[in-house]
Amino acid sequence: MTVPVAATAAKKRILVSNDDGYYAAGLLSLVEALHSLGEVIVVAPEQDRSGASNSLTLDRPLSVKKAPNGFQFVNGTPTDCVHIAVTGMLDPLPDLVVSGINLGANMGDDTLYSGTVAAATEAFLLGIPALAVSLVTRSEGQHHFATAGHYATNLARRLLEQPFPEPVLLNVNVPDLPLDRVEGIAVTRLGKRHKAEPVVPATTPHGRPVFWIGAAGPAQDAGPGTDFYAVKNGRVSVTPLQVDLTHKAQLSALQSWL
Ligand code: MN
Repeated sequence: MTVPVAATAAKKRILVSNDDGYYAAGLLSLVEALHSLGEVIVVAPEQDRSGASNSLTLDRPLSVKKAPNGFQFVNGTPTDCVHIAVTGMLDPLPDLVVSGINLGANMGDDTLYSGTVAAATEAFLLGIPALAVSLVTRSEGQHHFATAGHYATNLARRLLEQPFPEPVLLNVNVPDLPLDRVEGIAVTRLGKRHKAEPVVPATTPHGRPVFWIGAAGPAQDAGPGTDFYAVKNGRVSVTPLQVDLTHKAQLSALQSWL
């Protein structure tokens, strides 16, 4: 008797995290979308930690609690969440980690500050393929998270069924459009923003001067081939990221300069 392949394949395990917090609408949409692919486990920050970058909490212990819907949350950063889940909680390890769906773009140098990208980066550093998924929107109100969920699920399925031959960290930005208005997928490089809007000075009720960090700057390098260009033209941008910051082209120039 032959057993169908689908019946013998081990159930896939997907860890989901984010930086907007375990209660965020984008996270819920992502979990709903990924359910068709296997077991989905959520370990996400207790609070909105957008802009947390790759920070780890080293000055206090961290707790993991469970919400009524089964989502687990940590009083730490996105990186803490994935680090704890992968090195201390999950056995067997997840086959894939998906971070998002972030409310707002993570394009160009946003990726350096992003907690959404950081959660995926932590998985990648720990040897697990990872996706960071962001919805490119500035508006309040209704958002097309389902569009991002659709593309995230398609990419996740591809990674699970036909693994990329190298370790992979994909940064995915989805235009805030209904699914039928998206113009497909584009493989892109990161564009550039900077410089940022200036800080916004304010005063506390007690008269102390304070500053709000201002908005990210408009895109400076947003030509064809960039993530900015793809999303502006209604496409889903997929950028393969790496972690090594070495400026390899400058190595020999620096060698002779020193
Ligand atoms: Mn965020």
